[in-house]
Amino acid sequence: MTTDRARHDDLRWLALACDLARACPPSDTAFSVGAVVVDAEGRELARGHSRETDEKVHAEESALAKLAGRDLTGATVYSSLEPCARRLSRPEPCARLILRRGVRRVVFAWREPVLFVEGDGVETLEEAGVEVVELPELADRAREPNAHLIN
Ligand SMILES: [Zn+2]
Repeated sequence: MTTDRARHDDLRWLALACDLARACPPSDTAFSVGAVVVDAEGRELARGHSRETDEKVHAEESALAKLAGRDLTGATVYSSLEPCARRLSRPEPCARLILRRGVRRVVFAWREPVLFVEGDGVETLEEAGVEVVELPELADRAREPNAHLIN
C-alpha cells in the first residue's frame, strides 16, 4: 500500500530525475536519462544523468558510483527510464548494479522502448524481490529529451 504522502514524494523525486535528463550531452545512439538516489528518510543521497562522467555512463550507474561503500538497503532509486537489463556498452546493466548494491525499491516513469536493446529491467528487478513502481504520468516528461530518438 502506497500512502498519498509516499506517492506525492515519489512523484516529486521522479520529476527531478526526469528534469536531470535534460542535462545529458546529446546523443543519437543512447537515451538521455536522469536518476536520483533517496534514503529511507527522504533525503537525497546522490543524483546522476547519462554521459555525466564519460560518454558511456548511465544515469543510475553514475548516481550509484557516488555512493560507493554506502549501505543502500533502505534507499530508493528514481530513474526517468526503466533501468536497463541488457547493455551494449558495458558488462553490468543498471538492473544488476541496483541489485548488487542492495537497493530494494525502484521508481521509474518510462518503460524502455525496444530500440537499442530488449528492455526487461522491471522483470529482472521484480524477480529478485525489488519493489518496482511505474509512474506513467511522468512518462511524457521522461521522453521529451529523447524525442529525436523515438519520432
Ligand atoms: Zn543502464
